[in-house]
Amino acid sequence: MSATLDQLIATRIRQDVQGMHAYAVQDSRGMVKLDAMENPHRLPAALQKELGERLADVALNRYPGERIDDLKAALARHAQLPAGFGLMLGNGSDELISLLALACDLPGATILAPQPGFVMYAMSAQLQGLKFVGVDLTPDFELDEKAMLDAIALHQPAIVYLAYPNNPTANLWNDATIEKIVQAAPGFVVIDEAYQPFASRSYLDRMAKHEHVLLMRTLSKFGLAGVRIGYMMGPQRLVQEIDKVRPPYNVSVLNCEAALFALEHEDVFAAQAAELKRERARLQAALKDLGLKSWPSDANMILVRVPDPAASFEGMKARKVLVKNVSRMHPLLAGCLRLTVGTAEENAQMLAALRSTL
Ligand code: PMP
Repeated sequence: MSATLDQLIATRIRQDVQGMHAYAVQDSRGMVKLDAMENPHRLPAALQKELGERLADVALNRYPGERIDDLKAALARHAQLPAGFGLMLGNGSDELISLLALACDLPGATILAPQPGFVMYAMSAQLQGLKFVGVDLTPDFELDEKAMLDAIALHQPAIVYLAYPNNPTANLWNDATIEKIVQAAPGFVVIDEAYQPFASRSYLDRMAKHEHVLLMRTLSKFGLAGVRIGYMMGPQRLVQEIDKVRPPYNVSVLNCEAALFALEHEDVFAAQAAELKRERARLQAALKDLGLKSWPSDANMILVRVPDPAASFEGMKARKVLVKNVSRMHPLLAGCLRLTVGTAEENAQMLAALRSTL
């Protein structure tokens, strides 16, 4: 006799999965959406039309083929990847983080990352049955060098993640500390440069000195969050090994063509990033004028401390402005909201909404 649905779920779905909450995306219709570090700009109308024609011409009846190789070559050019390094594609860097855990799935392996940090590192460990070790940042959100080195020595992690800049604190790490971590790491170090379009430094030039460093980027913050293209770069042979666990057709032909089109117009996105960096500076000054503590940012987000984060979050939401309340994510983030940098108009609306809640 076949089992009931309740029995099936109770006995055939992993216990820890049953205990999880699904990743919830908030309904943002009609809202000023400043919760997820998206680029607020859409493609200019003329380019939208041109892209539409390009996409109409894509052979949807075929599995992704050579155009994927074209995209990998275009991304390598875009990133100025040195010769001898390889590049693999993910359906967003979220997928790359999962694939890396899958490839490193040794019994008892550990993934280590500073905390507070991007949640997917811990989630990828949990889902692959790996151990996750989070090492607290200092109260001003710097890497705690000694704590990181001690934890690496103790746990011998298969992977160390360093988001550079970090999410949600938006800062870059001290470069001498990174080098010490890289020297000490017995496994891979992944430098996650999701926010590279807004950052003042990159690890790319230093990557070539190390055989165990991988560099991850995404087109999401560049302006194509909906297109879901992430890429990971590292020594060719290493990337080839990790690429073996990738589902063969993980990037769709439409996503691939849209990304290729966007890279042909990278100057448009570079101008948008430059404008967002100017807006970031204006926003930081305005937050200071409101008497609020915010931290320096090398990303398209700003972490700010407010007297009552829940009241500010709800008050802003009631005024149709959506930000992220990160105050309960980690004790170091007590009182904090994370604000995505939007257009001048959106930022003005956001500031007015925030002011009214203080
Ligand atoms: N890395 C970091 C540090 C992030 O903050 C994010 C997204 N918020 C990602 C990776 C994932 O980006 P995506 O899957 O859109 O490429």
